[in-house]
Amino acid sequence: MGNAERVFVGLGANLGDAQANLREALRRLDEALQTRVVAVSSFYRSAPVEAGGPDYVNAVAELRTQLTPQALLAQLQVIERHAGRERPYHHAPRTLDLDLLLFGERRVNSPGLVVPHPRLALRAFVLVPLAELAPQLRLTDGRNVVQALAALTGQRVDVIGR
Ligand code: AMP
Repeated sequence: MGNAERVFVGLGANLGDAQANLREALRRLDEALQTRVVAVSSFYRSAPVEAGGPDYVNAVAELRTQLTPQALLAQLQVIERHAGRERPYHHAPRTLDLDLLLFGERRVNSPGLVVPHPRLALRAFVLVPLAELAPQLRLTDGRNVVQALAALTGQRVDVIGR
């Protein structure tokens, strides 16, 4: 995977066997064209943000890919659909949610894709697993992941394990 970008993807699920859904998604990501999973955080449990329903299981994966950001997003959506995600309403509980968090240093601002993910620095359930893999990584506002996490309060995220 020469030349490949350092990419981070957030995974979340709060329906069905959420941990099994995350493991299956990681397996499919690693099998995706021109893409490898090089690191996976622990799994965490978090309360839903702006929504009801069961707690989420969350994790972050680091990838190397030679896909474009748009092609990777399309691949993430294929994996989501495979997990049987139904979207009856906004913020509905979901079997699998995959977010493209960071794609090397690239910035994308198109109607269907914004990278870095705009809510990345506001969500402890993203920053806590990301801090495991890349604590010193700089966000667009100049802070690193650990500094951004220190600024968040009141969002509980508990480690489950692997
Ligand atoms: P959600 O229901 O929160 O998972 O939002 C999914 C929608 O967000 C999709 O239609 C995507 O096109 C769009 N989107 C924009 N930026 C991103 C991103 N960085 N990662 C994942 N989805 C994104």
